[in-house]
Amino acid sequence: MEYKGNITLPTYTEYCDGLFNEAIKKKKKVKCPACNGDGFVAEELESSQGNYHEIEETCEQCWGDGKVEPSVNDNPGSISSVDDYKLEMIETVRKLSSWTRTDFFLNVAKCKTLFIKGGYYG
Ligand SMILES: [Zn+2]
Repeated sequence: MEYKGNITLPTYTEYCDGLFNEAIKKKKKVKCPACNGDGFVAEELESSQGNYHEIEETCEQCWGDGKVEPSVNDNPGSISSVDDYKLEMIETVRKLSSWTRTDFFLNVAKCKTLFIKGGYYG
């Protein structure tokens, strides 16, 4: 049956806040803000000849894990990149289209009022 209502996607800020609060509630680790989840950071070293070399060092925030325990003092905005947010929103609309047999991509005007907190994890 086609879904007759509207959906509204969270803004980037709302999406990050949602993910962040969920991570704190469920004690899940979040992407390390220091290394952006890579687990290592690039550092410039000066050699004895005066040349600069870029070396990769294990991140001291997460020790190579790429993930850290969220702390209430952290900035939720660092939890997801804008690109990841866009991908997640597209995936959310795709799933909703599938579940409700409504093509929200064809009818983006329907994406208005159903608020999705922090995206779906279905
Ligand atoms: Zn790190």
